[in-house]
Parts: sequence; C-alpha cells; structure tokens
Amino acid sequence: MRIALDGPSGAGKSTVAKAVAKRLGIVYVDTGALYRSIGLYVQRKGVSKDDKEKVIAMLDEIKLDLKFNDGTQVVLLNGEDVGGFIRTGEISMYASAVSAIPEVRAFLLETQRKIARENSVIMDGRDIGTVIIPDAEVKIFLVASAEARAERRYKELIEKGESCTYEGVLADIKERDNNDSTRAVAPAVPAEDAIFLDNSNLNQEQTIDKVIEIIENTVKKKKPKKKRRFYRAVKFLLGKIVGFFLGVRVKNKNKEIFDKPFILCANHTSLLDAIVIVIAMKNQIRYMGKKEIFKIPLLNLFIKAMGAFPVDRKKGDVAAIKKTLEILKGGECVGIFPQGTRHPYENPRDTEVKDGIGMMASRAGVGIVPVYIKNKSGKVKWFHKNTVIIGDYISPEEIAFPELSGREKYKAISNYAFDKICSIGESWEDKK
Ligand code: C5P
Repeated sequence: MRIALDGPSGAGKSTVAKAVAKRLGIVYVDTGALYRSIGLYVQRKGVSKDDKEKVIAMLDEIKLDLKFNDGTQVVLLNGEDVGGFIRTGEISMYASAVSAIPEVRAFLLETQRKIARENSVIMDGRDIGTVIIPDAEVKIFLVASAEARAERRYKELIEKGESCTYEGVLADIKERDNNDSTRAVAPAVPAEDAIFLDNSNLNQEQTIDKVIEIIENTVKKKKPKKKRRFYRAVKFLLGKIVGFFLGVRVKNKNKEIFDKPFILCANHTSLLDAIVIVIAMKNQIRYMGKKEIFKIPLLNLFIKAMGAFPVDRKKGDVAAIKKTLEILKGGECVGIFPQGTRHPYENPRDTEVKDGIGMMASRAGVGIVPVYIKNKSGKVKWFHKNTVIIGDYISPEEIAFPELSGREKYKAISNYAFDKICSIGESWEDKK
C-alpha cells in the first residue's frame, strides 16, 4: 500500500500522515525533511539560497540517509541527526528555494522511490503522486486557505518560542506556495487522479478521519469483485468428501483474518497440503505452485480455475512476484510454502527458508498467517488424522523491521514467519 499525500505548506500533512501510518501500521515518510536538510547545509555554509550554481556544486558533499526508529523518521545529513535544526522559518525558505532546482530534485529522487518500493508507506510532500510514486494506490491532495494555514503555523511557532508575527508567517506561506506551485520541475500540483481535501474548516481529528475514509473507500473501489463460485463449490465438495478420507481437523479458526488479504505460509510435507488448507481456511487461498504442475493436462485447468498461478523456482521469477502483488493488492490471499519444496518426515527447523515471502509481504504491505500442518506420520496422508493449526495473524507492523532494508529485511520477515510456523508445531507437541 502506497499513499501519496501532497499539498501546500502548513495544510497539516505531517500530523495526518503520522496518525494514518500508526493506524494502518505503515511507514510515514516526511520528504520535506530531505529538502530542509539540503537547505540547512546550504545555510550553514553561508551560501545564498538563490545561488543555484553553488548549491548544485555542493550536492557532491552531501550524503542524506533516512532511518526509522520505532516508526519515527530520522534524517542523517552526513551522518548527523539534523531533526532539531530543520524546522525553523528560515530553513523553510531555504528548503523551498533549493527544491526548485532540478538537480536537487534528481538528487533526492531515488532515496524516496527506494523507500516506497520496499515498504508500505504514506509519504507526504509536493510531487509524491505526480513524480515519486505515480502509481500509488491512494493519492490525496490536502489543502486549506493560506489564512487558515498561517494561523495554525503561527500558533505552532509561538508555542515553540520563536518570535514572529501572523502577517510575516502569512507572507512566507504565500511566497512558498508561489515558489512551490510555479516552479518548472515537479510543481506542487495535484495528480490528475488525486482526491482533493480542503480542511480549512476541519480540525485535526476530523481531517484524520476524513483521510482514513478516503483511503478505505479508494482501496475498496479498487478491489475487483471476483466470482468465487467455482472455488466455493470445490471447497464444499472437498470438505464433505475428500475431507472425510483425509480426516482434516482445524484448530484456532482465526476470525480476525476473514476479511483481509494476507500471505498464508505453511510447512510442506505432501502434495495434499494444499487441499487440507483449502478445506481448513475460510478465505480463498490462491496458491503459488511450481510451474511443472501447470504442464499436467486437466490438473492444469483445475488448479488455474482454483486461482493458482505458476512460479519458476529456478530463477527470480518476476512475473510470479508481480502476480502475487497484484492479487494481494486486489484484496485476495496467496498461499506459499516457504520451504519451496516438500520435506516429509523432517523437522521443519532443519530445512531452508526462501526469502521471497518477506519481499512480497513487505512490498504489498500485508500480514502473514502462519499455519502448521500436523500429521503423526510426518506427512499428510489419506486415512490419517491430519490437523491444520492456524496461527495468530502477523500484522504488517509486526514485520516492519524499520531498521533493516532490502534483502536483509526480506530475510528477517521470512525467518520470523517461519519461526512462528515451527513454534506452532512445537507448542502443539508440548500440549499433547
Ligand atoms: O513539507 P515541508 O514544509 O517540510 O517542505 C519544505 C519544502 O520542501 C517545501 O516548501 C517545498 O518547497 C519542498 N518540498 C518539495 N517537494 C517535496 C517535499 C517538500 O519541493 N516532496
């Protein structure tokens, strides 16, 4: 899930974004802080904010990093945490001036896109919906009259102990609005498909509620209404007929997960695992299956009709990853066996885990449901008691691992989920 929250200075974007991030368990990225940090560097060096050539030449000396501590963003300017220096009126004007320089924008582009690629985010800025994440799931353009914004900002600055006048703050806001919306590159204008929200007459709580409502409605509208009749009919028959011969018992029918997209991960002992999971889970599970099964006539038609899709396990299959993200973003669930292949009779802890699950959960912003399939003989078999234990839902927040990025993060998520699967099995054994 990527939410682009754009709008002019002082519309309250950061307060709203923080609250939304907390409620949805996603990462809040304040892109203005990046421009402010460059503004701070220029100011500290005593260079005029309007001296474009000098500012461009200085970019080589600047290294900016974004880190997240317990969900709070920290900007490091050449290793220094500059959070305490970039919120002044003076630095706002520096940020606005340097942000109009195309080279500065290009310099910051990849930093912003990388975070949006690797996390579910709500990003606030000016060009998030138009330039940084043009394919964001939700785009909101938050506005308020210059007077309403000036009044809020004035109160904030006075509370912080800065000396200023309302007229001065209003003039600065108007100047920044003008700079930001008329500059040649990435002007602060709404994306064509952005939803406009004017909060001149709304307080903070009302604005947050309204934004959450917009997000929920947009996501709901984008969810395709899938006909699941075939799946339901098969599930019913499997439950009644095959389920009897397979002796499927389900433990922990987890009601919390009935209504949301997630990745289901289970230990893998037999080809029958997929069937017992279909019987056990109320949600439709669309399996990622090895491409070889899709070559078997008739079975191929059946599993496709059930919503399964192929993966080539010998390479990083980009099409399969894209398909998974598309399904999850459409509100459906995907089933994956993180061990990649069957390991009957083995302790799952002794087997290897693939890190693709972590990547897909992180990029789609969904949670994971760990499932342990238990059979005394070590493998799901006909005419044996097969128990499906559904674990607790692992929320996107639980696996945000904000201090990690890239492969390290994906690996950590996959290991976390797999550890849960193994623990379910072990605690089940202990109970008996
Ligand atoms: O959002 P904030 O007021 O902290 O941003 C400071 C300045 O950085 C803005 O006035 C704007 O000129 C610039 N900015 C930008 N694009 C962004 C975020 C901020 O041009 N995505």
